[in-house]
Amino acid sequence: MKLEINDTFTKELPADSIHENTRRPVRKACFSFVLPKKTSKPLLLHASDHVSALIGLSKHDIQSDDFLTVFTGNSVLPNTTPYAMCYGGHQFGNWAGQLGDGRAINLTEVFYNNKRWAIQLKGAGETPYSRMADGLAVLRSSIREYLCSEAMYHLGVPTTRALSLALTGDKVLRDILYNGNQEYEEGAIVTRVAPTFIRFGNFEILAAYEDKKNLKILADYTIKHFYPQIKSKGKQAYIDLFSEVSKLNLDMVIHWQRVGFVHGVMNTDNMSILGLTIDYGPYGWLEGFDPEWTPNTTDRQHKRYRFGNQPNIVLWNLMKLANALYPLIEDVAPLEGILETFKTDYEIAHFKMMKSKLGLYQNDKNDNSLISSIEQILQLAETDMTIFYRNLSVVKKTDSVDDAMTKIKEAFYEVNEIKSETEAAWQNWLSSYLDRLQNETHSDTDRQKEMNMINPKYVLRNYMAQLAIEEAEKGNYQVIQELYQLLLYPYKEQLENEKWFAKRPDWARNKIGCSMLSCSS
Ligand code: AMP
Ligand code: MG
Repeated sequence: MKLEINDTFTKELPADSIHENTRRPVRKACFSFVLPKKTSKPLLLHASDHVSALIGLSKHDIQSDDFLTVFTGNSVLPNTTPYAMCYGGHQFGNWAGQLGDGRAINLTEVFYNNKRWAIQLKGAGETPYSRMADGLAVLRSSIREYLCSEAMYHLGVPTTRALSLALTGDKVLRDILYNGNQEYEEGAIVTRVAPTFIRFGNFEILAAYEDKKNLKILADYTIKHFYPQIKSKGKQAYIDLFSEVSKLNLDMVIHWQRVGFVHGVMNTDNMSILGLTIDYGPYGWLEGFDPEWTPNTTDRQHKRYRFGNQPNIVLWNLMKLANALYPLIEDVAPLEGILETFKTDYEIAHFKMMKSKLGLYQNDKNDNSLISSIEQILQLAETDMTIFYRNLSVVKKTDSVDDAMTKIKEAFYEVNEIKSETEAAWQNWLSSYLDRLQNETHSDTDRQKEMNMINPKYVLRNYMAQLAIEEAEKGNYQVIQELYQLLLYPYKEQLENEKWFAKRPDWARNKIGCSMLSCSS
């Protein structure tokens, strides 16, 4: 196994001068050198040939002993110096101080095919940033991260990637519900890959301790490697950086809203400086369309990170990043201007995204109301978001309201219990929609084709990941492979996989792991 090692983070940024792996505050540094913990009986459960190809590894390499030992922490690649990053963050709206890679260890960076990739093990043991926890990850959360990050990529959502999923052979103690019932679970490691894992929190921690010197070094590093299009100098470069980061994060959250993804823990330490979806924890997928829904039990009361609030939270998080970059800019107006632009750009992007979900391409003065009313009507009776949009593409211009209703009815969870007012509201909306389709120049077939390229047929429904987990916990890893394969082509009709284009089964409605998740990963 040969990788094109090309480390920059550890070479260009300040290192923690202490090399001992003890938990402590780290100041005046962006990272600490630390080695992954050895694992007792590593077993590779899955590896992505798509991601291995990105970093220059072949299918043959995946099968090698080297691959297994390196990506489960048992050997360190020659000429590399693994490290954990130092970052802080705002958690649930409050400054939480130093957080850092508590259980992620970056192995190295490679430069392959003109692209830079950082490779990181998640669950590889404690680091100076582990605080009270063990630095490990359990199988269930690792399966969830592994499958979901790849599923998101193939849906066209900006995300970190996953190279491999392995068991460590070591047991990990967890209290899933935080109710005092601890149990041993199987430990696992996911190898993640991204151009960089830098988060908003990497900047926040330096700003919080007034380390302007290193803040500048980190911002310059980020621009040099990840925003080479920024040619301005001095303060303007940092303003431009903030503007670019803001655009990428807007794009990311619009995609989340398009596919029905709820991140669950949008703390500023979980916000990538590249606008990538990062840190798959208690995330979930909308089944019934409900802007109030959050999968995260820790957030059950205030629902700060509910589906409908995600765009606002991105903005809030950007405001925290603006504060962190302020010492380099010392001028509030341009930062405020960018935050204002985010708001107006969001409205435009959301409108455009919703129009495309509905298959509307011409301009019509009533589109705004058609869009806001569908978002209301979808909530009248529990209606599966994915099935609704996918079936809407089958509606023809010449359909009657009843024809159209029959086509979308499959999306209702309790088809026989739809109230007459709800039915009337739907008929009303479908009637306006059919009228509106008359202004479209697309043929029914073309519209369906376009809609099916942005309204997925298959997403990683909460219960699907849970099925993969339950089977894996019994030693059967087949469902992981099946779902991985299915989610490579989320927009394609896969006749042999029709069973996954179905509403959440009843058993999964309130099941732990399906609709409710904690951070106990
Ligand atoms: P999260 O909300 O999962 O993104 O985690 C927030 C912080 O807690 C990050 O600094 C993580 O590195 C840290 N953390 C989460 N789980 C563990 C663990 N098992 N061991 C050490 N640190 C952890
Ligand atoms: Mg995190």
